[in-house]
Amino acid sequence: MSTTLETDICILGGGIAGLWLNARLRGMGYSTLLVERGALGGGQSGKSQGIIHGGTKYALHGKLTQAAEAISAMPGRWRACLQGEGELDLRGARLLSEHHYLWSPGSLISNLAGFFASKALRGRVDAVKGKDLPEVFANPAFKGKVYRLAELVMDVPDVVRRLSELAGDSLIADSAPHVERREDGSIECIRLNGRRIKAQRYILTAGEGNEGLLQDWGVSQPAMQRRPLQMVLVKGANLPSLYAHCLGSSPKPRMTITTHPCADGQWCWYLGGELAEQGVNLTPDALVARARQELSELLPWVDLQHCQWTTLPVNRAEPAQSGAARPDTAYLQAVQNVLVTWPTKLALAPDLSDQAIAVLQQQGIQPACDDDYSTLPRPSIAVPVWDICFP
Ligand code: FAD
Repeated sequence: MSTTLETDICILGGGIAGLWLNARLRGMGYSTLLVERGALGGGQSGKSQGIIHGGTKYALHGKLTQAAEAISAMPGRWRACLQGEGELDLRGARLLSEHHYLWSPGSLISNLAGFFASKALRGRVDAVKGKDLPEVFANPAFKGKVYRLAELVMDVPDVVRRLSELAGDSLIADSAPHVERREDGSIECIRLNGRRIKAQRYILTAGEGNEGLLQDWGVSQPAMQRRPLQMVLVKGANLPSLYAHCLGSSPKPRMTITTHPCADGQWCWYLGGELAEQGVNLTPDALVARARQELSELLPWVDLQHCQWTTLPVNRAEPAQSGAARPDTAYLQAVQNVLVTWPTKLALAPDLSDQAIAVLQQQGIQPACDDDYSTLPRPSIAVPVWDICFP
């Protein structure tokens, strides 16, 4: 016989979207249960670069797009949380870099200089020189230009740890949650191993797993798209820290580099951008060879001789767009007693939770339940990818 757990809101998926929303709803007095089928942060969130974008990346072709506008408030929202003055108390979560940078290895930036000086980006982008340069560029061989962006870089595994603390007793592990449907098509409950969860509302925040949950529920819309990447990881004891987009000739960064701490005290450069988008069609060896070649052209003075190299294929899961384009904003659609969501960016988790809370309030969903969840099986927190990808 299965036990029935009653809650106000049942959330499916413990990445950034689910954990952020869970913490906010709990702070508003809702009882919540978040079901995770793997490890918390083990999906895209833990594999992300942790950049809290302010939109500059989306403006590289010279004008502010809708994406750039929608995301511009996010660095401030995250920063307030880190200082204990925001919607969530993220004090203690590790900030990897106060700034993300943009660098041009050659003369290309001169075409964009007027744009960077434009009113639209004032306060978001500053040219940096001399002693203000990140250490890696303070080398006589460096001839490019560097801009500092009003964006920060988070240690995502540590953010996940902090959000799981804020979750209290609300997290539950189950390897195969199953949707039970009513005749009218709405969700009756979520069936777990030996338990059922009944809620006023169900919120899908399972990233790529939303697709399977929607199928299980028998619903075809909203549809999901995947945009694949093959990231490159470089691990070494003496890697300098670097958080920057390298400009190429297209509106997308040629390469985006972030630096992450490994458990053994070494550091890992995590390489994304066009390198990772175009790298999906290459074998890991061919992609590593390309990454080595690019880095030796861009940063020839950095010694990568004794580093370990590997790649990580990973999909970005998003609401389907025409031409599989990148969506501009966080996405939420209410379908019967369910909210289907994709944040589309880690940075947009606060925006997604605003949207979800607004819909719950429009629908008149109030805190009503105060069950005790202290004896449930808890999901673990994912081990950072830089600690498992290298043999
Ligand atoms: P996920 O993090 O994928 O979490 C979904 C969770 O749901 C997982 O824990 C999974 O195990 C669980 N789950 C799946 N199915 C089920 C189920 N049936 N039942 C219960 N649980 C389930 N964005 C930025 O803003 N900045 C960046 O620097 C950045 N870098 C990125 C780099 C890479 C390589 C990638 C792939 C993405 C990056 N993104 C970045 C995008 C960002 O990572 C994602 O938009 C965001 O993390 C998605 O969060 P999520 O919570 O929706 O999904």
